[in-house]
Amino acid sequence: MSRFRSWLWHLAGGDAPYERTLLASLLSVLGEHAFETHRRTADATRQAFFELSEQAQAGELDAVIPFVREQRRDEQQFVEGHLNDLRDLVWSLLGALSKVAQDEAQDDAALRQQVQQLTQQAQRPDALNIHDLRQALHSLARVIEQREQRHRQTLNQLQGQVHHLMRELAQARRESTTDPLTGLYNRRAFEDSLHHTVGLNRLFGYPATMMLLDIDHFKQINDTYGHATGDAALKWVAEQIVRVCKRKSDFAARYGGEEFAIILRETCLRDAQKIAQQLAEQVRKNPLALPDGELLRITVSIGVSELQPNESEEAWFRRTDALLYQAKQAGRDRVAA
Ligand code: GH3
Ligand code: MG
Ligand code: MG
Repeated sequence: MSRFRSWLWHLAGGDAPYERTLLASLLSVLGEHAFETHRRTADATRQAFFELSEQAQAGELDAVIPFVREQRRDEQQFVEGHLNDLRDLVWSLLGALSKVAQDEAQDDAALRQQVQQLTQQAQRPDALNIHDLRQALHSLARVIEQREQRHRQTLNQLQGQVHHLMRELAQARRESTTDPLTGLYNRRAFEDSLHHTVGLNRLFGYPATMMLLDIDHFKQINDTYGHATGDAALKWVAEQIVRVCKRKSDFAARYGGEEFAIILRETCLRDAQKIAQQLAEQVRKNPLALPDGELLRITVSIGVSELQPNESEEAWFRRTDALLYQAKQAGRDRVAA
């Protein structure tokens, strides 16, 4: 029995609640950061990890190792496959370029020879033969025409490949900055935006406010209705955020599990507070309709703060997070600023 297996066996024995929670949390984190593979979509992977996490918490561990092993292998294949595709593409671009260079060299040699012949003939005007001259000019023209044709073909082919490459890169960039579940930005994109916002404030004094929003008693929603409903609630809250924070410069991200971070540029604290109130009210007043018709009430707590002169990114975030904590402590379903 491997060490890991015997550890699992020990966990399932029922006398290791801390370890079970640890394993459940690890599986939940793997789910949060799931990505697409050949076998499963990111959503399906997330769902599967969450189910395993719940099973682990309950001491049912049989499915853990086979699933994690299969998933890890799939991810490896997926990443390697994409890298190989890109590598092939780069090689074929290089191949096309080196073929162009080779053809050019051959053409140049042929042209040089023709020009040499013409030059020799021109140096002996007495021996100049109109027929030969016409012949030489004709073949020169043909070489040039063929060369043009080949250039056009190669260019078309390269254009197609470059286009394909650009599309792949654009998609990779989009995927690396969006949260697949809600379509909002992800944590990484949020950190970039935070960095830029603080930089702009230092340079030009542009005001900015941050809202950190956390769904209240979300664990309870998951536990009562299951993860699929939890996911639906996350999507739904994201929709309300987009509805309320609708300015082009508003930046909304899913920061973690059921936490959202929003940056409002060129917005003072008073305005941001109003927007936060509006958002909390919008969520409170519009319950989520479940497939069986039941209305699920959701509330959120929000911390809001304005960036202070010379405040660091970390300090600003921590200050806003402390306000969110205050809103929770004060009874949830409210805004603290
Ligand atoms: P509070 O009002 O204090 O915020 O309580 P809470 O239950 O919302 O907070 P807690 O942090 O205890 O629970 C968050 C839960 O969110 C636990 C985790 O399993 C769940 N979760 C995290 N990410 C996802 C996800 O992507 N989908 C679903 N369905 N659940 C998730
Ligand atoms: Mg939370
Ligand atoms: Mg919460």
